[in-house]
Amino acid sequence: MEQLPANDHIWNRKLIHILWWILLIYEVVAILGFFFNLYDQPPQWFNSFMHVQIITTCLQLSLMGAGYLAIHFLKQYSDFIMITWTMTMVSIFIICIPELMSSYELISIPIILASIYFQKKYIFFAYSLGIVYLISLLVCQVYQGHALKPSDVVMSITVLTVTALVCFVIMNKGLVLITELKDSVVREQDLLIRNVMIDRLSKVDALTELFNHRSFQEHTDHLISHMPHDTPLELALIDIDNFKRINDTYGHWVGDMVLKTIGSILKEVLGPDDMSFRYGGEEFAVLFVGKSHEEVLHICEKLMETIRSTEIPEMPDQPLTMSIGLASYNRNTMKKAWFQLVDECLYTAKRNGKNRIHSHISE
Ligand code: GH3
Ligand code: MG
Ligand code: MG
Repeated sequence: MEQLPANDHIWNRKLIHILWWILLIYEVVAILGFFFNLYDQPPQWFNSFMHVQIITTCLQLSLMGAGYLAIHFLKQYSDFIMITWTMTMVSIFIICIPELMSSYELISIPIILASIYFQKKYIFFAYSLGIVYLISLLVCQVYQGHALKPSDVVMSITVLTVTALVCFVIMNKGLVLITELKDSVVREQDLLIRNVMIDRLSKVDALTELFNHRSFQEHTDHLISHMPHDTPLELALIDIDNFKRINDTYGHWVGDMVLKTIGSILKEVLGPDDMSFRYGGEEFAVLFVGKSHEEVLHICEKLMETIRSTEIPEMPDQPLTMSIGLASYNRNTMKKAWFQLVDECLYTAKRNGKNRIHSHISE
């Protein structure tokens, strides 16, 4: 199962903030306790209280300083340092605050905190360190002359072990969820890519890599319904001259090559706003948006010239020509009538001898 990266500096910074807050809360509670007990406690109590609080605060502040230094100089072990730091802080409270004497279960807090790293080794480290600290605290207790109850020891070890086990289970569950989430994201991305590819396949002609007839219809409908009324729109229908003869003379594959070459020329010569399509067979369509009729005529002439001067190595000394029918869109006529008009223009260009443009301007 995948584990999260080690030395998570962002989380460690948050943990350090939490440690500061714990220290602050301790100070506030201790000072409040001091004022509450001021009047009904004997004067020795004041001395012992100050003694406990000053020692605790000094130890905790020294620990904070040592923690910062350790993290600064041993960045690669910052997660281990954080666990040791938290464990030491809890142990200082257990040793110094009389009310917390024998509250060894508190050592389970750093074990719980270690689970935020989502790595088994940190939970295991926190657990092992917890046992070492527990034994040290017990030795301290005996050294201070307090009696040691075996049931307390067993209880404390049990609490630490159960805490570590629960943390393992929670972490494993979390890791399973993360793996599942990652898998589902990957699956979703795959699906998205596949959809985009299918969408592209359904819109693009495989041979010329131009948009196909279907996308031509969709795009024309979109332009007609969304374009501002005063934007000029022109349609050019391009038909290769005597293409059947090319196929018959040089073979179908050369014919395919010619279609491919014309597709590349269209992409090369046309501007980014002009959209070219393979209309069908050896016919191409180009939609010109926002250009005057003269500009479009000029582009079509340039296109014809480029194709005329293009040499297809497989058909030497055989000039390639095409005929173009061109008409501007008139808002007052239907789309079908516009297409018919362009078709008639193309037919006229063919009838008049091919290798030419025949255009019609709508009033
Ligand atoms: P015109 O000058 O009047 O346009 O005559 P043409 O020979 O170009 O037109 P015609 O309609 O007689 O023939 C078109 C030919 O285009 C017939 C068809 O086999 C061929 N064709 C259509 N699609 C493809 C294709 O994808 N690859 C190849 N190689 N040939 C194709
Ligand atoms: Mg044709
Ligand atoms: Mg033709």
